[in-house]
Amino acid sequence: MKKIGITTTVPIEILIAAGYEVVDLNNIFIMSNKYAGLIEKAERDGFPSSSCAFKKGVYGAAMDNDFKEIVGVTEGDCSNSKALEEVFRMKGIKVYPFAYPSNHKLSDLKNSLDHFMNIFKVSLGEVEQVRIRLNKIRNLVKKIDELTYIDNKATALENHIYQISCSDFNGNDHNFEDELRNKIKEIRSRKTIEKKLRLAYIGTPPMTSDIYDFVEKFNSRIVYNEVQREFAFPRGINYKNIYEQYYDYTYPYDIEFRIQEIKKQIKQRKIDGVINYTQAFCYRQIEHIIIKESLDIPILNVEGDKLNVLDARTKLRIEAFLDMLIDRK
Ligand code: SF4
Repeated sequence: MKKIGITTTVPIEILIAAGYEVVDLNNIFIMSNKYAGLIEKAERDGFPSSSCAFKKGVYGAAMDNDFKEIVGVTEGDCSNSKALEEVFRMKGIKVYPFAYPSNHKLSDLKNSLDHFMNIFKVSLGEVEQVRIRLNKIRNLVKKIDELTYIDNKATALENHIYQISCSDFNGNDHNFEDELRNKIKEIRSRKTIEKKLRLAYIGTPPMTSDIYDFVEKFNSRIVYNEVQREFAFPRGINYKNIYEQYYDYTYPYDIEFRIQEIKKQIKQRKIDGVINYTQAFCYRQIEHIIIKESLDIPILNVEGDKLNVLDARTKLRIEAFLDMLIDRK
């Protein structure tokens, strides 16, 4: 099967309909035992040390795994994407462009999706067939989310992993579906997790996934992973076509649209405090100013860089934040 790399969530239905095995390069990077080496490779090839480690890791993962085709998101993704795509092209990789129109108009998104379908020579009917199949799997992932915040049985790390895996369905949607069914059965048989504080994690999915276990040491647990949940399209499942589904996806669009959904989830999930994760050298750090002003709830901003585990200073800050929240409650 032909293999294609993606650097963020894109309309995977179109790629699967075109016969590709889709691989999210972020996931390869984060899971790799050569994790630090992939960043180093990018720096040896000229990426500045003052650039985002995710971008460098994605580049390293693409080179290390010899990808020949990649989808580049030209609008609605990272401000560094364009430069990365140019480097990929220079290295002989074929880059297919896709855009989430920044004006967030349904008609423009429709044009963009139609154009993407034309590039891969697939029809809307073929794409919708794949979408129906994938949405059944997304519905299973939604159950894991409910088992996290309603039943209090799934862990925050499981919540993170299964939702984030929806960007590429771990490269094989059939195997992923089987794994989910078994996991749900196993989670249902567990006792409930009892913690005093309920937290939201918002922003870029963490480089440091030990954050989930760390907060649990302080009578707290994360019951909402904002961006990871968006990757799993929990609302898109109900829409009648791919245009509406990708229109109601908050991550690529304006911050106000994201904040509306965050506020809704904070209320529904009875959240006591928010951890906002940003990545060093990411333009999204500036959005923290707006998020802080817009949410009427205690927020801690945590920054990650190259390390894939929390550093001592960040641990201390999280501990102090959680102590404060427990005292308030
Ligand atoms: S963390 Fe920010 S700079 Fe890094 S890849 Fe993501 S959006 Fe781009």
